[in-house]
Amino acid sequence: MLEVVNLTKHYNKVQAIKDISFTVNSGELAVLAGPNGAGKSTIIKSIAGLLRYEGNIMICNKNNKSIEGKRLLGYIPEIPSMFPLLTVSEHINLSAHAYSIKDYEKKKEELLKTFDLWDKKDKFGSELSKGMMQKVSICCALITNPSVLLVDEPMVGLDPKAIKNLKEILIEIRNKGTTILVSTHLLDSVQELWDRILIIKKGQLILTKSKEEFEIKDKSLEDIFFEFTEE
Ligand code: ADP
Repeated sequence: MLEVVNLTKHYNKVQAIKDISFTVNSGELAVLAGPNGAGKSTIIKSIAGLLRYEGNIMICNKNNKSIEGKRLLGYIPEIPSMFPLLTVSEHINLSAHAYSIKDYEKKKEELLKTFDLWDKKDKFGSELSKGMMQKVSICCALITNPSVLLVDEPMVGLDPKAIKNLKEILIEIRNKGTTILVSTHLLDSVQELWDRILIIKKGQLILTKSKEEFEIKDKSLEDIFFEFTEE
């Protein structure tokens, strides 16, 4: 479970996030939506522990800044960054070791094969295309079996097969109880995945609602988004 309580973020004098609170339950995939500049990245980076902020963020009842909290959290950033002199395989090993994951070789092979990286496992970070880096970054996050997974703009830069596989994996781990928060402006791409929508506008949370709470069941995310964000 992910709990964000009274999150406020200032960049110098500018208040980018204004006292936001929300919860994403275990086994729930929440979509974080909002116009450009609304504050989505700031929220994701705060949860990932990459920014200073005011408020409290709990990962399965552990503070996100604690070692226990960090162990439970996975993060797939929008822009992947690779170590130029580590191979694809070594990136996964590093991630597994950092999280003290044991016996991960079989899962590593499965993930690399799923994302068409098995024959590229000995390529260096510096030799990878942006899409390949994105796939390595996904594998690095998934190898740690996170209880809470943050995904920033997951479909951007991926080929159709990788998008299909990523969606299947997100559904699979969500069904096993993982909490997933996906930030995206490509609402179509998460239409068949979402359980909860969070809409951010000008640094404020203007909607948090689960799919069941909508009276009209077949409303698209896009319809909901425009309904709540248009002036
Ligand atoms: P989104 O991800 O929804 O597009 P961001 O979280 O990137 O929005 O930005 C929210 C607000 O914070 C915007 O007004 C943006 O200009 C501002 N902002 C983001 N990063 C910085 C920064 N490093 N320094 C100053 N202002 C920033």
